[in-house]
Amino acid sequence: HEITREMIKAQAEKEHVHYIRLQFTDMLGIIKNVEVPKSQLDKVLDNKMMFDGSSIEGFVRIHESDMYLYPDLNTWKILTWEHPEDGSRVARLICDVYTTEGKPFAGDPRGNLRRVLATMEAAGFSAFNIGLEPEFYLFKRDEKGRPTLDFSDAGGYFDLSPVDGAEDCRREIVLELERLGFEVEASHHEVGPSQNEINFKYANALEACDNLQTFKLVVRNVAHKHGLKATFMAKPIAGIAGSGMHTNSSLFDLDGNNAFFDENGRHQLSDNAYHFIGGVLEHANAITAITNPTLNSYKRLVAGFEAPCYISYSTSNRSALIRIPASRGISTRVEVRSPDPMANPYLALAVILAAGLDGIKKQVDPGAPIAEDIFEMSYDERKALNIENLPSTITEALQHLRKDPVIREALGDHIYRKYMEAKYLEARDFRLEVHQWEIDRYLSMY
Ligand code: GLN
Ligand code: MG
Ligand code: MG
Ligand code: MG
Repeated sequence: HEITREMIKAQAEKEHVHYIRLQFTDMLGIIKNVEVPKSQLDKVLDNKMMFDGSSIEGFVRIHESDMYLYPDLNTWKILTWEHPEDGSRVARLICDVYTTEGKPFAGDPRGNLRRVLATMEAAGFSAFNIGLEPEFYLFKRDEKGRPTLDFSDAGGYFDLSPVDGAEDCRREIVLELERLGFEVEASHHEVGPSQNEINFKYANALEACDNLQTFKLVVRNVAHKHGLKATFMAKPIAGIAGSGMHTNSSLFDLDGNNAFFDENGRHQLSDNAYHFIGGVLEHANAITAITNPTLNSYKRLVAGFEAPCYISYSTSNRSALIRIPASRGISTRVEVRSPDPMANPYLALAVILAAGLDGIKKQVDPGAPIAEDIFEMSYDERKALNIENLPSTITEALQHLRKDPVIREALGDHIYRKYMEAKYLEARDFRLEVHQWEIDRYLSMY
């Protein structure tokens, strides 16, 4: 779908678009936007929109802060849920960030993913196709509108009404997504009370990230309208299911065929598929620093809640880091189960892709799949099968990232340095606090 400048201008006129949100994503995965009135549309389309990047997380220092937003015309959309009082409409364009010299800015996560996708093309593949499965909680808000941790329903996995009180909200989210052109494949109640999942059609990596960012915006806005608070925090409540973002990945070849499918291969998977898995397993420790980016992320990666905590793959078992869903042919894919929805999707896909491509280049053998439930195994049994643990804290994951040149290269030097800086600060902030758990455990005991 190629949208032209003329199409944008015509639609803006016809639909009375008065405001245009120019969106981009910062290093932490947060959507940012500059809004301009319609009078600026030509300037926007001419790549002349300048902004000050100095206060954007992961961008630059004060003295080199002028940047340009280059809109990706294919991302033009009228935001169906925004209705300004003057009866006009609001549209958005997702942008790439450029420097004053007209070069892609190295700190822009979206531009960085484009860079890694170019290495994929150089390796002979046409697309990295991604289906994301974001999970989220819908909590109640109090009479002052503040978010609480009170459940909005008591439903469980795949439950139906009347248990499922958030059903209306979820239906409206789906409706809103469809208005925006999403092909929603399924929506269901997840395992936790008030926990939900919505699946939409896979897309190439860049579009899948744009879609995820839009999806989050829609979920938050519709939930707000229903008096609820949507959160993509990985583990909002101890002892109940965390929220993951399973990442279904496949590479397509230059003829448009799924490069992971091989009718005659073991389990009908190609060598490329096995090597890709080998690469992701080999770099799993460093990848985790990006796919599980906060201190809270590691509270999800524990046994007992269908989240992975060991580095292994399986053709069926959901305790593994990587699972190969049963579909074959064009839908053959590798499901990476560790990412959570706090991850910056552009960075997460860049590191997973780089790891997989490295596996293909070095023909890394992933070994045999593990069929048994790893959670049931003893330490010695895991040791015998060479099954390592995933990092258990962000600090541990960052130490692995420091030692992994392939994953560092997938971030580029700018993002790597800014990310390490921001994440070590975050870990230090946490360490400086004394938490209630410590008081409860130690104050009287010692
Ligand atoms: N909530 C689980 C996780 O944290 C996934 C549950 C599922 O989709 N089967 O990954
Ligand atoms: Mg799912
Ligand atoms: Mg799920
Ligand atoms: Mg899944």
